[in-house]
Amino acid sequence: MTLEPVSAVETAVYRFPTPYPEADGTIEWDATTAVVVRVRAGDHTGVGYTYSTAAAAGVVADHLADVVCGQDAGDVTACWSAMRRACRNLGTRGLVGQAISAVDVALWDLKSRLLGVPLSVLLGRCRDTVPVYGSGGFTTQDDAQLAAQVAGWTDAGCTAVKIKIGESWGSRVDRDLARVDRLRELVGPGVQIMVDANGGYTVGQARRVGAALDDRGVVWFEEPVSSDDVAGLALLRACLRADVAAGEYAADVVDAARLCPAVDCLQLDATRCGGYTGFLAGAAVAASAELQVSAHCAPSLHAPVAAAVPNLRHVEWFADHARLEPQLFDGTPSVHGGQLSVPGGQPGSGLTLSGRCEPRRRT
Ligand SMILES: [Mg+2]
Repeated sequence: MTLEPVSAVETAVYRFPTPYPEADGTIEWDATTAVVVRVRAGDHTGVGYTYSTAAAAGVVADHLADVVCGQDAGDVTACWSAMRRACRNLGTRGLVGQAISAVDVALWDLKSRLLGVPLSVLLGRCRDTVPVYGSGGFTTQDDAQLAAQVAGWTDAGCTAVKIKIGESWGSRVDRDLARVDRLRELVGPGVQIMVDANGGYTVGQARRVGAALDDRGVVWFEEPVSSDDVAGLALLRACLRADVAAGEYAADVVDAARLCPAVDCLQLDATRCGGYTGFLAGAAVAASAELQVSAHCAPSLHAPVAAAVPNLRHVEWFADHARLEPQLFDGTPSVHGGQLSVPGGQPGSGLTLSGRCEPRRRT
């Protein structure tokens, strides 16, 4: 059975300023760049995106569009393989991987629209709603900004929330712990606290901070050290009570397999790890190590695939993306009772470009 040949691959680049300067332990930013990909076949259009740099749109236009155009839109995995082969000399990680991911996501959406089924059904749905945790807690926030953000999460029924620590490459540990204490005051005893150091600590520091976090009942310590330091992560996993998590930069199953022995929960980001095709493969690798996966950022994009992964723990309801996705798209799922509703009533992902945002660049 064939569907329709892919007839066009288009990109558009959008910039979403943050409401105030934001930072984690190791980087600062004032905007998020979304690179949107639309693929067309017959009368249907699929949409995907990655948050990256405008250069990712150039990769799509210069290196991926011709690879995908003319292929049958039903053969998503063939397109995924062809894109990776075509980028051998460029490398398939980093922004090239983000470009491939955005095209893959758009192709899955397109296929489900051509078949007339919800995307979550095409991917193999095993749940109708997906648990999320509130995520943000930037190191730049003052107390009022943190309190307002946390109120949004608890109002939406989140039972777990996450803030950034490791401020200024681990040079402000006292403030890190004070902010964790303030978060506990804000959420009370019934909500789980998670933290993300974005690789800001050394191993020794992370062990000491981790002990203090264990004393505070923190359940999740993300990238206590760089995710490149697999041995360091493994050491921390062995000595801390909190779950050690990493994986947001994983580009493929090789990265996933390398991290699995060192984490309690593998993070995967479909906008970086090869789209939904890569996410499903990474989740299978995690399952082979008896691990759950947690989807990193882009909650609306992750909803359909998160609904189709048996070993899913949760999806990160990240503040920047929870704000930009409803501006960029119509049909974004909402959060109630700490759960993201998975679009299931119509063909495709349920997301369509809103037309409310002006792209800075188009191909
Ligand atoms: Mg993180």
